[in-house]
Amino acid sequence: MGKRIDGEIIRGVINDPRLFPGIERVRSGSTQMFGKRIIQGGKCIQECDFEITPPEKSWYSKEIDGVWHWVEGCDHCNGEPKEWAYSRCQKHDVCVDCGGDRKSTTTAWGCSGGWRCNDCQEKINRQRLAEAEARIVPDDEYDEMDFWHEDEARCPWCKAEISTDESYDACQEEHKCYECERHFKLTAEHSVSWTTIRSVKQVA
Ligand SMILES: [Zn+2]
Ligand SMILES: [Zn+2]
Ligand SMILES: [Zn+2]
Repeated sequence: MGKRIDGEIIRGVINDPRLFPGIERVRSGSTQMFGKRIIQGGKCIQECDFEITPPEKSWYSKEIDGVWHWVEGCDHCNGEPKEWAYSRCQKHDVCVDCGGDRKSTTTAWGCSGGWRCNDCQEKINRQRLAEAEARIVPDDEYDEMDFWHEDEARCPWCKAEISTDESYDACQEEHKCYECERHFKLTAEHSVSWTTIRSVKQVA
């Protein structure tokens, strides 16, 4: 582990003669852009003078005591793993389940703690489906009334809770259950009640 300043690991001095103390720096992905960038009316009218790509994609540049350094931006290397990480080093930019790198998967599915490879995601999907199917009762045991005018909408197949946030005017709306992947219709049942209060003023 390298030397730390303000809790961040210093990876080394950036040897580039174009750098000087106080030069402005903006980050664009892992690219570090130096020099004044002027934006007017939402349009860039002057680009930065030059850019430097870090030797590792998780490193970023930081001026420390007038000297530009590479600093580690990987949350795992810094000893503080985050739920959603902006940039990780190659070693830590891996599937949360199997530890495979990005090259070993076609799709990286974002999840808590980072991302999951396609194989691991499919394994989870298969398990979720099997668990939901195990909850489905056969037709002769199924009672429509169990899903009639309920406080919480549930899938009439596997009983999974259904999000109704955008269904307040649903009438026989087609849905596919996220858990058991079966189809059902959702209807919002509204009831009305009435309130009266006495008016202070009594006019004819
Ligand atoms: Zn790392
Ligand atoms: Zn995986
Ligand atoms: Zn279901």
